[in-house]
Amino acid sequence: MGDTARRLAATHTLTHGRNVSLLERIRETSLRLDPIVHPEIEGFWAGLRERELRVQVCSRCGTYRFPFAPVCFNCRSFDATWEVISPSGTVASAVTVHRATGEQVWASHVPFVSALVDLEHGLRLPGRILCSCGEAASRGARVRAVVLAAEGAVDVHGFAHSCIAPVS
Ligand SMILES: [Zn+2]
Ligand SMILES: [Zn+2]
Repeated sequence: MGDTARRLAATHTLTHGRNVSLLERIRETSLRLDPIVHPEIEGFWAGLRERELRVQVCSRCGTYRFPFAPVCFNCRSFDATWEVISPSGTVASAVTVHRATGEQVWASHVPFVSALVDLEHGLRLPGRILCSCGEAASRGARVRAVVLAAEGAVDVHGFAHSCIAPVS
C-alpha cells in the first residue's frame, strides 16, 4: 500500500460507518441530460440512488481508485468494492458558467457554479455547487455532497452550501 492509499485508508476509517449520514436530496426542476452510466462504475450511481457517496476501493491493496477504473493503477487487480465516504468537503476551485455551450438544455440552468471539491475523505471530486448566497463560489467554502433528484432522470451528485435546504 502506498503512502497515499495509507493516508486515504486512515481518513476513511474516521469517516466510514455510522458517522456517514445519508446524502440530502435536492429536487431539480430544470431539464438536464442524463449521465452515461457505464457498468464499470455503476457502484457510484447505485450509491447515489441509496443516497450514499461511494468510492471504488481496490480489494487487494486498498487503494482508492479515482478516477474510477476497471483495474487498479497500483497493483493491477481487477477486484474492487464500493465504500461509503463522508459527504463533507471544501471548495478547491470554482467557476461560474454564464452561457450554455454545446447542448442547449443547459441554458435553463445558467448561471451555475461548477467546482472541484476536496472531500474530507481525501479525494477531489468535480460537481455543481448549489448556493443562493454566493459564498460557496470561493475557495475554502465548506459544502456537502447532495443528490440532485429529478423526475424521470438519473440521480446525480452535486454540492450544496449551508444556505440551501434539502427536500424530503
Ligand atoms: Zn490495488
Ligand atoms: Zn450559499
